[in-house]
Amino acid sequence: MIAKRIDGKAAAAAIRETVASRVHDFAQRIGRPPGLATVLVGEDPASAVYVRSKNRATAEAGMAGFAHNLPDTISEAELLQVVSDLNADERIDGILVQLPLPTQIDATQVIETIEPGKDVDGFHPVNAGRLAIGLPSLVPCTPFGCLHLLKAELGSLAGLEAVVIGRSNIVGKPMAQLLIAESATVTVAHSKTRDLPGAVRRADIVVAAVGRAEMVRGDWIKPGATVIDVGINRIPTEDGKGQLVGDVAYDEAAEVAAAITPVPGGVGPMTIAMLLRNTLVAAHRRAGLHDPEGL
Ligand code: NAP
Repeated sequence: MIAKRIDGKAAAAAIRETVASRVHDFAQRIGRPPGLATVLVGEDPASAVYVRSKNRATAEAGMAGFAHNLPDTISEAELLQVVSDLNADERIDGILVQLPLPTQIDATQVIETIEPGKDVDGFHPVNAGRLAIGLPSLVPCTPFGCLHLLKAELGSLAGLEAVVIGRSNIVGKPMAQLLIAESATVTVAHSKTRDLPGAVRRADIVVAAVGRAEMVRGDWIKPGATVIDVGINRIPTEDGKGQLVGDVAYDEAAEVAAAITPVPGGVGPMTIAMLLRNTLVAAHRRAGLHDPEGL
């Protein structure tokens, strides 16, 4: 079997188009577009690239963007004040503070300072807790994007065996919560898991969020499984340019799986689409409107 290649770019483009049309409706009704503030601290090149593409996507969706680029010498107190000011700004519905932050700043403090209703990354303990107990929340963008791809591929996930590799607060844990809410039977694996290949071999759904290039091999995959590869790893190439690969050995896994996301072009584009979706949802809730339909 050669697996279907799940096209995250196309899925993300469809979501962004829907978001853009709902942004237009929102602006007509409320008299202003939804607003997203991004906060970039320092000059980390990868973070700068991520934030630039988030800012570009915000503008393309017709939202108001508020980009804050701060020096890496900023103190924690100064950054907390920036976040408090954004909390108080009525034009802003979503606040995204790009991680990682410089060592003098405690990221937990920063995340806890963001108003939960504006926490479009879904990292605030209030949103994490609400997700865990099944209440409406703002859901972390990457796992939410993975769930969207899985449901588009499989329909109902009820009763399916899912293995999530990785237990970070950003990806693994919220992914597991989302799968539980869909009535999948969920195993969360991590660096202390015994017999990881054995656990993965039982899974109808594999979500790999580890950060280790091509760690998941083809012979770990159950025939017919659906594989979502969150990993982004740069490996050296002879021409010196390097190459992006996921946590799954794509060619091997594609021989066995029914469907698999590529890296790049799988989960990555979905993350930004879901950030826009979350900002639109936050704007609706803040304006006292029902959540937008079809997202
Ligand atoms: P993280 O915080 O470093 O977490 C990695 C997880 O993998 C940890 O739970 C760790 O276990 C587990 N792990 C490490 N080595 C392992 C092994 N040998 N076997 C099994 N589990 C192992 O990373 P993250 O933020 O969740 O990100 C994971 C990957 O996704 C990275 O490549 C990142 O770049 C990528 N990512 C992509 C997007 C996107 O938009 N596509 C977004 C976010 C992240 P312990 O808990 O035991 O240490």
